Amino acid sequence: MEIVEKAQAMLERYPLCDNCLGRQFAFLGYGVDNAERGRTLKTMLAMKGHQLALQKSEEGVLLLKVLAENGSFPMAVEILKKLRRRPKKSKKCFLCEGCFESLPIHVAKASEKLRDYEYETFLVGAKVPPEVEEKEDEFKAQFEVQHGENFRNELSRVFGKMFQEKTGKTVDYLNPHVVVLINPFAGDVRLQVNPLFIMGRYVKLVRGIPQSKWFCPKCRGKGCGECNHTGRLHPESVEELIAGPTIELTLGETASFHGAGREDADARMLGKGRPFIIQVKRPRKRWINLNELRREINRRAEGKIKVSSLKIVGKEMIRTLKRMEASQKTYRVTVRFDREISDDEIANLQRSLTDVKVLQQTPLRVLRRRADKTREKHIYETVVKRISPNSVEMKIRCQGGLYVKELVTGDGGRTKPNVSKIVDAKAEPVELDVLGVSVKGG
Ligand SMILES: [Zn+2]
Ligand SMILES: [Zn+2]
Repeated sequence: MEIVEKAQAMLERYPLCDNCLGRQFAFLGYGVDNAERGRTLKTMLAMKGHQLALQKSEEGVLLLKVLAENGSFPMAVEILKKLRRRPKKSKKCFLCEGCFESLPIHVAKASEKLRDYEYETFLVGAKVPPEVEEKEDEFKAQFEVQHGENFRNELSRVFGKMFQEKTGKTVDYLNPHVVVLINPFAGDVRLQVNPLFIMGRYVKLVRGIPQSKWFCPKCRGKGCGECNHTGRLHPESVEELIAGPTIELTLGETASFHGAGREDADARMLGKGRPFIIQVKRPRKRWINLNELRREINRRAEGKIKVSSLKIVGKEMIRTLKRMEASQKTYRVTVRFDREISDDEIANLQRSLTDVKVLQQTPLRVLRRRADKTREKHIYETVVKRISPNSVEMKIRCQGGLYVKELVTGDGGRTKPNVSKIVDAKAEPVELDVLGVSVKGG
């Protein structure tokens, strides 16, 4: 069947708007949209009807009436009026139920909802009820449509174009700031505001601050006698010290914290600091002044933590950050023995813990949160210095993820080799600091 005849057959059976008619021929011709394809076909049919009507053929009048009623086509209405024939009332589109006509309302709704958000890029996700898609499939089968486009595809494209014209924002398929989810059949417009990721490094200058919020293990945050009814084991955390000002400045809802590994609450984190990413949920502001944020975090957390090198990153950096956990770390730990130790023993300890492989079964103290397995970690170098007759300071450069406290105590033989075994004396870690977290390429 010829294109125009096929279009006529479709319109004789079903009311179709310009988009829905044009969509059935979407892959024919370039540089025009489906609405224009539909209008062109209707124009040709109206001309055909007009010609037949002028030849006094009732067939022509019938075609014009079809175009007026099923095509909602103004030109056909005009011709019928000129011919002194009564045009029929137009019907709602069989396929889209008039949803293309209602799109401007949804565009306005979406841009209104986004008024308070800073964003530059967007993506549209259109939802179409399954019965509508089924109807479209049956229609395509009935008329043997071969060059038609998918309904949902057209819907999101047309919406996207209108939205772009109204707001001046650009489409981004990979990392959009916002996703506009529309379901014109339900009159529904929802927003998915994608998170903002800020990366940086932190140093922790004092002991006693955990990296993340630490709830009381007894009441699990509800508050009990054990935790002085705070629900917390520690009143503050690195996470909260960073998240507070970040949420205030970005006007986000919540924030989650990702660290390249973590130090114990009682260990300091020194040197250049540990890389982290703070992820802000539904931020209203994206173009924040990072210098201002850094100053504000550091001012409020003065003497406790300090952040540096803040930058906006993509969400894929989270994975990179998690991989950094396995990078090199340098620890400083002071160790006290239950007896005096000799210079020879110190030299032997240093030798034994340089360029050595450590087999470490999950420490008893973290066994509740981590799987029980043996990990292999490498120590690149250990430097041991005496502090007093029965205590030393050790600087250990090793693979990330080594449990240093257990390296000292031996953890009942779960860590091999260990300081206690090498010296053959009870060894106890007194103070632990992380001096450096080095990251490949960062
Ligand atoms: Zn339609
Ligand atoms: Zn409690």
